[in-house]
Amino acid sequence: MTSMNNPTLSPSVAASLDARKTRIYAEGVGVRYGDFSALRGADLSVPDRSITALIGPSGCGKSTFLRCLNRMNDLIDGARVSGKILLDGEDVYERHIDAAELRRKVGMVFQKPNPFPMSIFDNVAYGPRLHSPYTRSEMNDLVERCLTRAALFDEVKDKLKQSALALSGGQQQRLCIARALATNPEVLLMDEPCSALDPISTERIEHLMRELKESLAIVIVTHNMGQAQRVADTTAFFYKGELLESGPTA
Ligand code: ADP
Ligand code: MG
Repeated sequence: MTSMNNPTLSPSVAASLDARKTRIYAEGVGVRYGDFSALRGADLSVPDRSITALIGPSGCGKSTFLRCLNRMNDLIDGARVSGKILLDGEDVYERHIDAAELRRKVGMVFQKPNPFPMSIFDNVAYGPRLHSPYTRSEMNDLVERCLTRAALFDEVKDKLKQSALALSGGQQQRLCIARALATNPEVLLMDEPCSALDPISTERIEHLMRELKESLAIVIVTHNMGQAQRVADTTAFFYKGELLESGPTA
């Protein structure tokens, strides 16, 4: 059912939802690891300003599919990707596409928080420093803005120069989100971002995701059906290497 037909939405809201553009369009995506076929014929559209959850039993290809979207599978020896993946209408596997630039636009957050062994400030500043020159005050503003968007600034504002490794697991994961936001991505990929976190940290990340989707598209792998129900607009169900079904979460 499209949002146009949803009686709980006002016509203007329904129309604006339907006008959300497709950020990522995947068609017939397959992945082989050597001789092993891990994913076959996956089709999915990811609308802007929404959360798409990938669910299904473990080992059925969710992470494999997610990694196709910003070409992280390029980094895995023996992995071969087939099919079509468009970001804003452009094929991300075209020869002229720069994978580093693609990953700036399509950021990623992993299951286990993986802050770099450096200060909180430098974790967030790391990506922007690689991509463009900032003055000191511009960089201070950017770091503050990203930490604020990731709902972490108030907790760390007095210890930005301290090691990120001293933060709690939930704080580290929000720092990783701030780091991903620092390159101003259009899409954020999250692979089971809460599975190593306690319920309170999980709740904070879910709240944060709902805020972030106001400005970008999120694709999240979760094995937690409750989480998919709480946060996702669209849910896609994977089973044994196939994307069987996708549609509105309800
Ligand atoms: P999920 O995220 O749904 O748990 P994955 O995408 O991680 O599943 O894995 C799908 C299948 O591909 C599994 O059978 C897994 O063992 C296999 N696989 C994943 N990564 C690799 C790899 N780097 N090399 C070989 N096989 C892999
Ligand atoms: Mg996985």
